[in-house]
Amino acid sequence: MIPLGTPGGVALRMHAAFVVLAAAAWRLGHGRALWAGLLALLAHEAAHVLAARAMGLRVEALELMPFGGVARMESACTLRPGQEAALALAGPAVSLLLALATAALARGIAARDFFRMNTVLCLVNLLPVLPLDGGRVLRAALAGRLGRARATRALSLAGAALGAGLVALGVWAAANGVVNPMLFLCGVYLAYAALKEKESLAAACVAALHGRAERLRREGALPVRLYAVPPGVPAQCLAARLHAGAYCLFVEVDDSLRAGAPRDEGAVLTEALGEALREARAGSPR
Ligand SMILES: [Zn+2]
Repeated sequence: MIPLGTPGGVALRMHAAFVVLAAAAWRLGHGRALWAGLLALLAHEAAHVLAARAMGLRVEALELMPFGGVARMESACTLRPGQEAALALAGPAVSLLLALATAALARGIAARDFFRMNTVLCLVNLLPVLPLDGGRVLRAALAGRLGRARATRALSLAGAALGAGLVALGVWAAANGVVNPMLFLCGVYLAYAALKEKESLAAACVAALHGRAERLRREGALPVRLYAVPPGVPAQCLAARLHAGAYCLFVEVDDSLRAGAPRDEGAVLTEALGEALREARAGSPR
């Protein structure tokens, strides 16, 4: 990642693949379209960041990728499905608005490039595969039924398949005399980013929870979330409630509304791990 500064307190970084794509676009004589694309991408990503801030989420970094960007958030793995969908839709919504406004108000070649880039950003990002925005909306919709981890795996594999499809299309086009390096670069990058999304889910969640120790040291205090839960709820369900932006305590409340002793995160995580290990042993072939 190439650091580009910290506008508004958000670390702005550019993926090396973006530079490769930009160099390829420049070489093919698409320099003006490149600037239009960069402007459209920054507006698209600013929409994600502003939506996150409006929800009270802390955005630590913004990484510019060839298909859009990734806003690194402290609590990315503990977003509620509705929040994740709204955050994901903010980018394509702004791209669509900018495309419509440009078509209605502006004239000239530069305006046409800006219109095209916003339209492409909106449509490509709405494809329902990870790591694109449409994939995040679909994951939010599927998370209740499949669970976030399974939905992430399925949609990341779909993203990798789409990337492979783009490369295959590039090969087919080249065999028919039309060489388009963008298809290869985009395809390879999409497949790589999709597989990385699949692998990094668990790591991102652990890193987010661990990041609280640093925040606690830096800020001196963290908000506490107190959950009242009925007796007998599996610890794995409680662990799914852990929030990167707060310290969670769980109190069992019985039918007569009497509260037991609070359980802290350490106790819940240890129990959840025990439950998962028991399930894995019970499910493994003997
Ligand atoms: Zn986006």
